Amino acid sequence: MDCLFCKITEGSIPSQKVFENERILVFKDIQPAAPVHVLIIPKKHIGSMNDVEEQDLPLIAEMHQVAQQVAKELGVAESGYRLINNCGPDSGQAVHHIHYHLIGGAKLGALTGISDSHA
Ligand code: AMP
Ligand code: ZN
Repeated sequence: MDCLFCKITEGSIPSQKVFENERILVFKDIQPAAPVHVLIIPKKHIGSMNDVEEQDLPLIAEMHQVAQQVAKELGVAESGYRLINNCGPDSGQAVHHIHYHLIGGAKLGALTGISDSHA
């Protein structure tokens, strides 16, 4: 499958890993939006939040557990962080392999609503 994050999972595209187990990988975003910006992905290819099936729910729960742990390890658990999932065209989802952005390490702006380009 021609999927960027599957290639990162397989190791054919390099990444700066910050956590890995049999099911989940966390690596640094190549274009960080804040001092801390990592991506939490399942190794299993799931296209987006829309494609999550009931059998995937333990995996999604584990991604949250990993987010909690990684936030602590990266020093933002207390200062705060944002966990973001983009799903579908209006969200700007660019990579069609489900992922959470974990962003922190600085005061974050308010959540954006409707962008000019969508208005
Ligand atoms: P999204 O717009 O939610 O699909 O986010 C995709 C994210 O993947 C963006 O923040 C990109 O900067 C990031 N990204 C794209 N290619 C790479 C890569 N090779 N390594 C790490 N992050 C990447
Ligand atoms: Zn994939």
